[in-house]
Amino acid sequence: MNIHEYQAKALLRDYGAPVSDGRVVLQSDQAKTAAGELDGPLWVVKAQIHAGGRGKGHFKEAEAGDKGGVRLAKSVEEAEAMAKQMLGRTLVTHQTGPAGKQVNRIYIEAGSGIERELYLALLVDRQTSRVSFVCSTEGGMDIEDVAANTPEKILSFSVDPATGYQAFHGRRIAFALGLKGPQVKQCVALMGTLYKLFLDKDMEMLEINPLIVAEGGDLKVLDAKFGFDGNALYRHADIAALRDETEEDPKELAASKYDLNYVALDGEIGCMVNGAGLAMATMDIIKLYGAEPANFLDVGGGATKEKVTEAFKIITSDPNVKGILVNIFGGIMRCDIIAEGVIAAVKEVGLKVPLVVRLEGTNVEKGKEIIRNSGLNVIAADNLSDAAQKVVKAVKG
Ligand code: ADP
Ligand code: MG
Repeated sequence: MNIHEYQAKALLRDYGAPVSDGRVVLQSDQAKTAAGELDGPLWVVKAQIHAGGRGKGHFKEAEAGDKGGVRLAKSVEEAEAMAKQMLGRTLVTHQTGPAGKQVNRIYIEAGSGIERELYLALLVDRQTSRVSFVCSTEGGMDIEDVAANTPEKILSFSVDPATGYQAFHGRRIAFALGLKGPQVKQCVALMGTLYKLFLDKDMEMLEINPLIVAEGGDLKVLDAKFGFDGNALYRHADIAALRDETEEDPKELAASKYDLNYVALDGEIGCMVNGAGLAMATMDIIKLYGAEPANFLDVGGGATKEKVTEAFKIITSDPNVKGILVNIFGGIMRCDIIAEGVIAAVKEVGLKVPLVVRLEGTNVEKGKEIIRNSGLNVIAADNLSDAAQKVVKAVKG
């Protein structure tokens, strides 16, 4: 689960990390008061969406004076005008994809004078099975280009979980970032704070880009992007409460409410499968026969009729879906129960695209018979390959 920049900064502030004072506003008429509570002479007006690259982003349906999703204001009146111009519009960045994201919240922050922009992240490194710091002297808005063109400028330091974070980690990072004098001490303290926050809150990713050396030489966090492990949210009610559902794919949101593992993709064949391995194999074989999956969907081992119905609703609500493939292995579940669930779901939500059903496992003959006798226009398949070919043929002709 991801949170907004202003929420991440509130957490950082709680933990004692150096961040600027700021206010979030939901309506433009709150902006002037909010900006007035902050010290000038510069204010930064920042669109809050769950995507990076806002500074270099652009708004859909361009207007005169548009400048991307992070803007510098020289007065509270200008900050208000900027907030008004951004709220409610759709911001497109290299991370949002062409559809962009609607801006519903604006963060107004005291502006900082910047000497250097650095990059810092903490993540779970699967290669070393450790939490790692990733840092670069080339912070700011183009870290993707740095990674692609000069990967040697991105350094990584892993932390042994047996010792945890130690001051020498912080000194190494400070050295790698070219920090001097009192900055080294600040860096050691800040890295310790970030490491503690990362572990305390079961984070998956913590990215600060840029971490700056401000005018006067102090370190400061200027942008923050946090991601949390969804499986650990049950023990962090404070973090779960920060969820902004308007930032999530509505189909994925509905799926999460029914405990379905669903990921929206952009192909034309909707898939309903049980088990992640079988779901991946199903997606592969659809591609093999020349089509693209519209989603990954694992209904789980103990799929009930209700779950199957919900899964159908989610799949059929996707306008890109031109055909559906149900591929279920009845292990713990029996195929006849699955078949009944599928038929009930189809009867409830209707069916406007071809549906191919492949069942295998316990009570498979009974399951197939139920499908045959249902009177519904369902194409039965005998095996995975047959099923994939049939659904691709039904969609592509
Ligand atoms: P994004 O990464 O989504 O583009 P950032 O928060 O990193 O958004 O902002 C983009 C750039 O705007 C930063 O690299 C920095 O140069 C500038 N900036 C952001 N916040 C401030 C601030 N409080 N004061 C001065 N400049 C800022
Ligand atoms: Mg940034």
